[in-house]
Amino acid sequence: MNDILRAVADVGFPIVYSLATCALFQQVITVYLLMVFGKKLDRLSDAVEKLTNYIEGLKKVRDIKYIVLHHSATDYQKDKDDIGGKLIGRTICDRAQEKWKKQFPDYKCDYHFIIGHTGEVFKAQPIEQPAWHCTNYQANLVSVGICFLGNFENIEMPIEQFNAGVKLIKTLMGKYNVPLASILRHRDVVSDISHTSNSTECPGKNFPYIHMLDALRDGEPFFDTGEDYPYIAEVKFLKELGIIKGDGYGYFKPKEYITREEVMLIAYRVIKALQN
Ligand SMILES: [Zn+2]
Repeated sequence: MNDILRAVADVGFPIVYSLATCALFQQVITVYLLMVFGKKLDRLSDAVEKLTNYIEGLKKVRDIKYIVLHHSATDYQKDKDDIGGKLIGRTICDRAQEKWKKQFPDYKCDYHFIIGHTGEVFKAQPIEQPAWHCTNYQANLVSVGICFLGNFENIEMPIEQFNAGVKLIKTLMGKYNVPLASILRHRDVVSDISHTSNSTECPGKNFPYIHMLDALRDGEPFFDTGEDYPYIAEVKFLKELGIIKGDGYGYFKPKEYITREEVMLIAYRVIKALQN
């Protein structure tokens, strides 16, 4: 019996081996398998594709490019029972839900976060979904909207609210890889309805935007010169000496032309620094 098996193996194995390595045979087998299992394979690959898309969707719900800052333009001081801002925050969201309930039944709020005067942060619209916080549809799709309670046309921002804002923005910047130059005020976002620079004053003239950006900059001299900027050491050195100051809004604008006025000022500051 063993002899028979050995004989079969001796003859059979080379035949099976040569067939398996024969390209034509492999193609015939592949065509056969496709004919038999083709539809099932199609369905399987469909299911795999759907699952992959779903997992990709979970990983990256939407591309967040900007963080847009607003004020509520409400006078919080009138309501002493709502110092934290929970009630006014809820009213703002209720109004938004009422407005959008037909188009978006699950809509929660026009902002993703609301920050009260005492520094309390309220989560509003889920971050995975856009909120209609600007009149720019495209900007809404790729941004997070943060509303600071209060009317910063009239009042200054309390330090607790300021610090809570900085902390939240810092977390979001890290999580969604948003650069400092993409932290915008509502009024910086050009409307796609009127096609003019925005007509809104939001978040108000007293909103501490520049201070907020300074607090977020973490030692970077300017928003547009990060650690990868080739002359970062020179820029830092000259800024510390007060010889260069940027455009007054936190930007160095390294690629722009310099004016005679600016050259004169820089020369003056250099001479002054040498005299001291
Ligand atoms: Zn606004």
